[in-house]
Amino acid sequence: MWRSGVTTFARGRQAQASPAPGSPAAPARARPAAVLAVIAAGGLAAIALWWTGTPPIHGLGDWLTNAGRLTGLACGYGVVVLVALMARLPPLERGIGADRLARWHAMGGRYIVSLVVVHAVLITWGYAVTAHTNVISQTKTLLVSYPDVLAATFGGLMLVGVGISSARAARRRLRYETWYYLHFYTYLAVALAFSHQFAIGAEFISNLGARIVWGTMYAGVGAAIGWYRFVTPARQAARHQLRVLSVQREGPGVVSIVITGRHLDELRAEAGQFLRWRFLTRGLWWTSLPYSLSAPPRPDRLRITAKQLGGHSHALAALRPGTRVLAEGPYGALTAAARRQRKVLLIAGGVGITPLRALFQAIPAGPGDLGLIYRVSSDSDVVFRRELEQLARQRGAQLWIISGRRADLGGDPLTPAALTTNVPDLAQRDVYLCGPPGMTAAVTQALRAARVPARQIHHESFEF
Ligand SMILES: Cc1cc2nc3c(=O)[nH]c(=O)nc-3n(C[C@H](O)[C@H](O)[C@H](O)COP(=O)(O)OP(=O)(O)OC[C@H]3O[C@@H](n4cnc5c(N)ncnc54)[C@H](O)[C@@H]3O)c2cc1C
Repeated sequence: MWRSGVTTFARGRQAQASPAPGSPAAPARARPAAVLAVIAAGGLAAIALWWTGTPPIHGLGDWLTNAGRLTGLACGYGVVVLVALMARLPPLERGIGADRLARWHAMGGRYIVSLVVVHAVLITWGYAVTAHTNVISQTKTLLVSYPDVLAATFGGLMLVGVGISSARAARRRLRYETWYYLHFYTYLAVALAFSHQFAIGAEFISNLGARIVWGTMYAGVGAAIGWYRFVTPARQAARHQLRVLSVQREGPGVVSIVITGRHLDELRAEAGQFLRWRFLTRGLWWTSLPYSLSAPPRPDRLRITAKQLGGHSHALAALRPGTRVLAEGPYGALTAAARRQRKVLLIAGGVGITPLRALFQAIPAGPGDLGLIYRVSSDSDVVFRRELEQLARQRGAQLWIISGRRADLGGDPLTPAALTTNVPDLAQRDVYLCGPPGMTAAVTQALRAARVPARQIHHESFEF
């Protein structure tokens, strides 16, 4: 049995329930399977557009050209989906979670960038074969004589550049902001490539309906980007007037920042969610940092807790009360709404405690139905110890703080056997997990081995 920790089964106070999903007050949340189905249906519709508009194919040139058209349609549709996933649409952010959306975006991005190259090669080659010329001279003809192809080529090259900057090896070398702002070239790339689809795309030239639907799809996603990434944050800034109230040291290299503002209930933030914070001081105003709420939100204040890693998080400790703050969000799907079972287990690793600390207070659960495992490498890394112990007593919840390295503990304390010995009803619980990537992967594996269904495991990564 785990030794370290507080186990309390006192009669507990039940936390105030957050609005039940489906009630008028519950914010909309998209279901991942439904979103994937819509994306797949759109892809099939694009293929149908090519299929119905293509006469029988004859000869190598025709085959190559049609393969080029098909990949072109896939790119035209794919970039819209990729951009929409990052449009910060609230139902996607709350239902799927920013980290999962970012993973889908990154995976889709790899395919789309490859397809852009394949599309250019196939079209050029196909036209060259049909015109009985070589690829070099056909490339020149396409760039000079075909409407909007030159602009689209620049757009394609930009997309490839963005893709290269996101490859793991390149990303490790780039500063986060450099990589982030390079990504904005995607918008320019999409704009540059848009018009060649209607100017020379066989599927659109003589099909007004297709042009209207395709154009509406691009305009809709463009409007969503403008609204949710630019207008909404500006409106929130004016409405909520956020300012730093206090900065408190929680432990070595960890500070909590309490932020006050007006009408914060209108944000509809939930325990377990995060916001992107922009602190308006020299050196910090130009970057927005994602930090989870480390306490349930109140109508007049929010709290975040930051571990000092690099330049930005170190600067947070020096923030002065009164500093103005802009916040975008809330985002994230690690909330009470994800839950399916009556019983809940929270598992935190290191600074991953922050969203789980908020959930430990707010997630509705009766006495004995809630537990928190907090894994740290040493006692000095524990933050919120007093708050957690107090909450455990108030709520009749179990709290295990497991500190120490594996070697000191005589092995991994979170093996399937250790988990089921200490939490015998593990498989009947929803498990919320937040910690370093290695720990998250290992614990997810252990939970699956302990027969916790995948749909009951909810995790959030602190990396996009
Ligand atoms: C959804 C989410 C919730 C988070 N919640 C918390 C929390 O509650 N407490 C906490 O201590 N940390 C949290 N983090 C991590 C925190 O945002 C980063 O540690 C912090 O931004 C690092 O900044 P830095 O400049 O100090 O470190 P750096 O050394 O510059 O960066 C370290 C790493 O942090 C990431 N990072 C840096 N800047 C950003 C940025 N603007 N946006 C996204 N990622 C960035 C990059 O992967 C980078 O490699 C969260 C991250 C995410 C994605």
